[in-house]
Amino acid sequence: DESLFHNVPLAPDVPVYAVMAAYKTDPSPNKLNLGIGVYRTEDGQPHMLNVVRRAEQMLVNELSVDKEYLPITGMAEFNKLSAKLVFGPESPAIKESRVTTVQCLSGTGSLRIGADFLGKHYHQHTVYLSQPTYGNHPNFFSAAGFALKTYRYYDAKTCGLDFQGLLDDLGSATTGAIVLLQASGHNPTGVDPTSQQWEQIRQLMRLKRLLPFFDCAYQGLVSGSPNADVEPVRMFVSDGGECLVAQSYSKTMGLYAERIGALHIVCKKAEVARCVESQLRLVIRPMYSSPPIHGASIVTTILRDRDMYNEWIIELKAMCDRIARVRQQLFDALHVRGTPGNWSHITRQVGMYTFSGLNEEQVAFMTKEYHIYMSSDGRINMAGLGSKTVPYLADAMHAAVTRT
Ligand code: PLP
Repeated sequence: DESLFHNVPLAPDVPVYAVMAAYKTDPSPNKLNLGIGVYRTEDGQPHMLNVVRRAEQMLVNELSVDKEYLPITGMAEFNKLSAKLVFGPESPAIKESRVTTVQCLSGTGSLRIGADFLGKHYHQHTVYLSQPTYGNHPNFFSAAGFALKTYRYYDAKTCGLDFQGLLDDLGSATTGAIVLLQASGHNPTGVDPTSQQWEQIRQLMRLKRLLPFFDCAYQGLVSGSPNADVEPVRMFVSDGGECLVAQSYSKTMGLYAERIGALHIVCKKAEVARCVESQLRLVIRPMYSSPPIHGASIVTTILRDRDMYNEWIIELKAMCDRIARVRQQLFDALHVRGTPGNWSHITRQVGMYTFSGLNEEQVAFMTKEYHIYMSSDGRINMAGLGSKTVPYLADAMHAAVTRT
């Protein structure tokens, strides 16, 4: 008897999850997971922030906490504090009620809701993505019916930014198109424009009436300062123009599985922002009706209290310092081994990732011979390394590069 679903074809695995699954079943005691983008401790263990534990303990003991439904747009105080974190406490856009914020399921949910909203209510259905970009980016926009285009971003020769290529491509982009930008800690390259370059990008995009959609998944995990890491967004907002921001607390508070984040849409007028919010409600309602409460409660508990906020900043800084240390250690280890090539991009690139320049074949070799798991484009999650595992990775990279 034939199944009613017998025509369903087997879909390929999502690459980053396939790497994770392969890592799990590898019995080698030396195995190393540098694939999925999560921050780990020196010993490669999952990292819970102390301030998050403290917030959760407070919530457990708080008798006024309940589990009733949140509004469709989420927890009001969470939304307000999240907007302040992105746009700054003195932001005129917030004061003038031109920002609409909705709590979403982390960065992913914010990007998806934003793309769906634009698909329904924005006149242009073309989006430009950096080449390369985070693997899930194309999916949000193709699901919403957009035409996908790319702009040059990474220069393989310098392991840095192809700024001229970026300007040329945005300069010839379709007027009014959406441009997806990463606020800081670019995934997968670890390459960010400088402030001056951002200013040029801003001018060009405003001239061409391109709509910026910022993905802000690492605010504070790049420099240790949430304000500094969101500077490009604030530049675009302070000119009075419009933009979207997808904000995630997955990495910055280690709240991955809580699925907590927000979508902000900055409008020119408060009346417009109100209408936009009413339409966002119609996008969200048939998808999941309203968001979960626990992650929002944790974030709100931390952001509303000065001491807890300061504790978060101290922990963030320690995370950034640890990543900077392993960057230096890996660079030194390759230098000591005399590994052919210029590895200075390991310390020049920022955020959680190093775009190593290792090719697919070299990565496959490192997986087979050294049980090191990472994405096939050569991206290394630096936050998955520790001083004990750096020499082993350096041995593997040396062998991969010198192999004939
Ligand atoms: N955006 C970028 C640039 C990312 O790197 C990630 C996760 O790796 C996300 C968005 C989505 O993560 P989440 O949905 O957990 O916020």
